[in-house]
Amino acid sequence: MKLDAQTLFFSLMVNVVLMSAALSFNVRWRAGSGIRAWNAALVLQAAAWGLLIAAYQVAPRSLATAGVACLSAAMSCTYVAAAAYRRIAPDRRLAWGVPVATTVVHWFVFGDYQARLAVTNGALAAQMAWTLWLLVRPQGGADGNARWRWLAATALAMSGVMVAGRFVLVLRAPEAYPAFDAPHWINTLGLVLTNAGLTVGTLAFLLAHRDEAERELQRLATVDGLTGVVNRRHWMATAEAHLRLAERHGHALTVAMLDIDHFKRINDTHGHAVGDAALVHFARALQGAVRQPDLVGRYGGEEFCLLLPQSDTGAAQAIDRRLRDAVARDVGPALGFPVTFTTGVAPWRPGASLAGLLAGAAAALYRGKAAGRDRLEVAEPAPGGVSPGAGGTPPSPG
Ligand code: GH3
Ligand code: MG
Ligand code: MG
Repeated sequence: MKLDAQTLFFSLMVNVVLMSAALSFNVRWRAGSGIRAWNAALVLQAAAWGLLIAAYQVAPRSLATAGVACLSAAMSCTYVAAAAYRRIAPDRRLAWGVPVATTVVHWFVFGDYQARLAVTNGALAAQMAWTLWLLVRPQGGADGNARWRWLAATALAMSGVMVAGRFVLVLRAPEAYPAFDAPHWINTLGLVLTNAGLTVGTLAFLLAHRDEAERELQRLATVDGLTGVVNRRHWMATAEAHLRLAERHGHALTVAMLDIDHFKRINDTHGHAVGDAALVHFARALQGAVRQPDLVGRYGGEEFCLLLPQSDTGAAQAIDRRLRDAVARDVGPALGFPVTFTTGVAPWRPGASLAGLLAGAAAALYRGKAAGRDRLEVAEPAPGGVSPGAGGTPPSPG
């Protein structure tokens, strides 16, 4: 089989142009999204190969240096894409400093073939190594199950063969590599692998993009859009799971329902937008008053629910006190009028269901409302020892 370097370079250029066009037309991305940076890397690579092929035909220094600038910038875009999906802040000075420095040095050492190739390929190899490390380095957090990382690292390693191979060749045996299309096996192998690596890299970043979209959908499905606390469905599912744990291990567990007092009046007096702002401030104060693994949820309207695993009524009372202080100190002044709320608390007892607990908390809450609001009430133990209610219907939000 005869593989000639010029044809491989040309097919590399066609490959990146088509992949970039396919991404641009088919992937919807937001500013700052990794796939956009990867697409920029592809566009820059296409430009680089075009410029380098042209430079080889007509050989001016400007075309070759521009090609090298594009190639190095493309590597920085790959680094930025990888950093975006790993949710690591990229080192911008390094990302843009290296292409600038490489370009300047390439321009000045252009007359010295060996120096120019060593500088270009050395800089590219360093950029690749640094991106590879960013991809594979362990980091706690959300991207533990990220197969895309290993795929992207493989792609990078494939392209790395070319620059690393050329770097070694130009330093150790420059006569074996007299031109960029030299038919040396390292050059040919590097080109084939670079070509394949770009396809694998695109696949990797598409996977990363899909993972990110999935996470975002997951978030949208579990979080309340206005207040940012979890929604009722997610809260209920989590509470059920904790209830089963409490049942199995005999741990304590407490739920509470909190309802802003005279909220309708806030809406009527100040408008719905201020009502919404009150909900946001209240939810933030509530989040600030609890600790891990307590879970705040929006039960509906201006009602919030609180899950306190391994906690008894005393914990709910402590949170309620902290929240009353925070609401008086922060929420009232932020809104320009005082806000109060009423809390109903139901401690879990063996045999109680979640629906029963919520019904108990709601009953306590309504007792608090009837008694004048701005207070905490604890559910009364039901006769027979199972408190509150083993069955019961969960209250509807309102
Ligand atoms: P109480 O002290 O007895 O709890 O009286 P309340 O006025 O707070 O209770 P009520 O249930 O009568 O009113 C709740 C109001 O909350 C009615 C509804 O229009 C309003 N509401 C529900 N969801 C939202 C929301 O997302 N934003 C705003 N601004 N208002 C909401
Ligand atoms: Mg209310
Ligand atoms: Mg209500």
